[in-house]
Amino acid sequence: MAADTLRVGGLVPLTSIDYPGELAAVVFTQGCAWRCVYCHNPDLLPARGDSEIPWSQIIEFLDNRRGLLDAVVFSGGEPTFQAALPQAIEQVRDMGFKIGLHSAGIYPRKLERLLPLIDWIGLDVKARQADYHLITRTRDSGEAAWHSAELVLASGVPHQFRITAHPDWLDDSDAQWVRQRLLAMGASSVVIQQGRLHG
Ligand code: SF4
Repeated sequence: MAADTLRVGGLVPLTSIDYPGELAAVVFTQGCAWRCVYCHNPDLLPARGDSEIPWSQIIEFLDNRRGLLDAVVFSGGEPTFQAALPQAIEQVRDMGFKIGLHSAGIYPRKLERLLPLIDWIGLDVKARQADYHLITRTRDSGEAAWHSAELVLASGVPHQFRITAHPDWLDDSDAQWVRQRLLAMGASSVVIQQGRLHG
């Protein structure tokens, strides 16, 4: 799949918080197969967006930021939702940028193939495996996400696991359970953030 078919729903030109320690731009890709109760980016969930940014415009922007930005983070939506992601990442890598990826680990096999191409990953882990569907409203989502967490750890790619605590969906004790489980699996960075329901 050609890189220029990547559907982009948004761009943040400069951030110092989306890739720890690096100045980065964030490319928000369109589309996600899950429907989390607290999703913060509902406009990015459909496969097609109302105001997509052509990939050529992203490349032109990055071309002008060589030497000024360290990295490009692919976020979403769920970046691995799109088949053009590996090619888009390779194109940006070839321009000299480090690659960050935000993912919910929806597609473990796709993620496994991507890991050698990326320099840092922020992976959401939303709940205990058995409780996942209560948040994602998607069957078998827990198996996918926890398998993705195992793959990230096995890869050695620098990571940050992110847990969203919410009184209705993942209370503090459950969030701590998830954190301890990830640490026991070998995670070196696990953060708990406080969530809010969209709308
Ligand atoms: S996986 Fe992420 S982008 Fe997809 S619905 Fe859940 S919170 Fe939203």
